[in-house]
Amino acid sequence: MTKQLQAIRGMNDILPAEAALWQRLETTVREVLAAYDYQEIRLPLVEKTELFARSIGAVTDIVEKEMYTFADRNGDSLTLRPEGTAGCVRACLEHGLLHHQTRRLWYAGPMFRYERPQKGRYRQFHQVGAEAYGMAGPDIDAELICLSARLWRRLGLSAVSLQLNTLGSSAARAAYREQLVSYFTARLNELDEDSRRRLQTNPLRILDSKNPTMQAVIAEAPALLDQLDPESLAHFEELKALLDSAGIAYQINPRLVRGLDYYCQTVFEWVTDTLGAQGAICAGGRYDGLIEELGGSATGGIGFAMGLERLVAMLAAAGQPSAELAPHAYLITVGAAAQRRGLALAEQWRDLWPELRLRLNCGGGGFKAQFRRADHSGARFALILGEEEAGSGTVAIKPLREAQAEQITLPQDQASAWLRSAALAKTP
Ligand code: ATP
Ligand code: MG
Repeated sequence: MTKQLQAIRGMNDILPAEAALWQRLETTVREVLAAYDYQEIRLPLVEKTELFARSIGAVTDIVEKEMYTFADRNGDSLTLRPEGTAGCVRACLEHGLLHHQTRRLWYAGPMFRYERPQKGRYRQFHQVGAEAYGMAGPDIDAELICLSARLWRRLGLSAVSLQLNTLGSSAARAAYREQLVSYFTARLNELDEDSRRRLQTNPLRILDSKNPTMQAVIAEAPALLDQLDPESLAHFEELKALLDSAGIAYQINPRLVRGLDYYCQTVFEWVTDTLGAQGAICAGGRYDGLIEELGGSATGGIGFAMGLERLVAMLAAAGQPSAELAPHAYLITVGAAAQRRGLALAEQWRDLWPELRLRLNCGGGGFKAQFRRADHSGARFALILGEEEAGSGTVAIKPLREAQAEQITLPQDQASAWLRSAALAKTP
């Protein structure tokens, strides 16, 4: 027997039974983004490796060890995108979208990181990201946070909380960096191998360590919040005031730094304790230096990305049904004339009611076999077209889910209207 192949480790199939929940999530996300006038941008999955090295930062986990990088047939170094912000900024600059104007954009799709797969952490995963450009003030920071909060409300997810911090200006960060280096150098024997390396290259990232043995030394580290420059402080204070006035609760977390290098000022993360170790469902922040770094003129930017696998897991845990959407009706056709008429009728009914979900029997079979299939399909009604109905221009309709309901016969051109009102009436 030929050996069956399996999917790549950490890359998941989303089967039809789960797809309904994904669709619901995606539809709600789209509606909420539209409510704030964010526009969709669709970006390639592959970019030049240099884009990520320059934007995310050479000494981040992502660039050091998580990227899927390969040479194409020309020998160019390409990378499967590990996140969406870099590609979004690249596209905006390439097409002049940031020229003397503001932009509110969103994107969705798969991201790729070579991580150790575990619950909530995969090698291909999906994000929806929102990005706003050309607005420097805390008002847009607050808008993005309100948008994400609205999404949780719409999805019925209440076990989420908002963590907030500021990384200050780049000057404040530089001074803070020096402080961190001397603090961690003094406690060198408490640092794990990763953090020792980071001490030279990117000491702020030590605060982001997930290693439990590091948490004590991290907790006692000096906080940037205590030595913020006045401008950053004012930005942060105004953001808090805006969130207060919108009724959005938050916790200040001075240890919150983002995994990527390009953040400054506002950073935030939505977390839940219902998912075990991978509790971050949405993370974002301001990245005012990035656009210049990638060759544009100085423009403010802020954005967030949320992890769809983690949100789907939350929705499933909250008991939201993930069953496949059953068809409204299953069309049974027996006999050659009925089969031909059946295909044409099914097309007509779909014209008349575009939302109709109709499964046409294909593959032949007698009444008994076709009724069995109709039942398995989950359809609420069987539409029956035998020789007799085909000859008389009628169709029989048999409710499959109601105990005492009678079979009826209707003229063929009335069937879709009848189904429509029956389907919109309350389910038995
Ligand atoms: P984490 O701290 O969990 O590694 P991160 O800081 O690397 O997250 P970001 O790069 O900010 O995460 O991505 C935003 C969101 O995307 C995360 O909050 C999470 O919900 C999701 N995410 C990130 N990496 C993965 C992954 N490997 N598998 C599934 N979801 C992920
Ligand atoms: Mg990560």
